Amino acid sequence: MPRLTDPGEYFTNLVKDKKNQNYRGYSTFVSSVNPESPIPEGHTRFVCISDTHAKHRELDMPKGDVLLHGGDFTHKGEVKTVDDFNEWLGTLPYKHKVVIAGNHELTFCPKMRERTKRAKESDTFMRFNFLKDIPEELWGNWKTRMNNCIYLEDEEVTINGIRIYGSPWTPEFCDFGFNVKRGEPILEKWNLIPDGIDILITHGPPAGKLDTVAFGVSTGCIELLNTVQLRVQPKYHLFGHIHEAPGYVTDGWTRYINASMVNKQYHADRKPIIFDFPNPIQK
Ligand code: 5GP
Ligand code: MN
Ligand code: MN
Repeated sequence: MPRLTDPGEYFTNLVKDKKNQNYRGYSTFVSSVNPESPIPEGHTRFVCISDTHAKHRELDMPKGDVLLHGGDFTHKGEVKTVDDFNEWLGTLPYKHKVVIAGNHELTFCPKMRERTKRAKESDTFMRFNFLKDIPEELWGNWKTRMNNCIYLEDEEVTINGIRIYGSPWTPEFCDFGFNVKRGEPILEKWNLIPDGIDILITHGPPAGKLDTVAFGVSTGCIELLNTVQLRVQPKYHLFGHIHEAPGYVTDGWTRYINASMVNKQYHADRKPIIFDFPNPIQK
């Protein structure tokens, strides 16, 4: 399969990141498209955000065709915040808004739903005890309620011929929502991603790509890196989750975007990352 070349400026800042050299290949910085530039003919402009954590109304949103959100739009999946987020999405002029959940959307997580059911039935206290008050008809029904966006949970959507797939799972950490064990269990989730996807959205990063926390510890998912680099090979991979590692890099084929909008102190002090995708010729 021929590899796409790109006239972008991402070869100008070639970096050899010693910390990441075990994670298949180097990362080179890419620049976000200037929000003031006109959308080139025959392209779809994507505006990427993630990890807004209820601060969505503080964001300065640039123009574009499609908004992508990589999850963690709430603190604990509170219904009020979800509704406000959906209402805010409704005010934005993008033609399409594609959203996935993150580990903070507890009320979206089927495992949390089961756990809450069991705690309710056996009348035992649980860590997120407020989940017992979420009406049963709300669980698993967010697709209908979030009516101002396309909500993806291990599924895909095609926009202007561009295939976009979204998945909320992250490697186990702090026992929040959509947590899966590293290794085979999480690989099973990534194995659900079909071949031929153009834009992949996951909540967390792959190993070695915009995934380092303080002290240089890499937290990304190695199974996700394998899936992205060895099998799916999407043109873009959007995620968030690691707030302290925002950015835009490429491995020469896939471009990785960590679009976390809040910093470690949960202030929304970042700008959305923008890219223009050439529309595939549609048969
Ligand atoms: P969130 O709670 O919003 O999902 O993640 C917030 C912060 O938790 C991240 O910016 C990062 O500092 C930390 N974090 C999330 N996942 C992991 C992980 O798997 N390992 C480590 N060490 N830190 C994580
Ligand atoms: Mn987050
Ligand atoms: Mn997260």
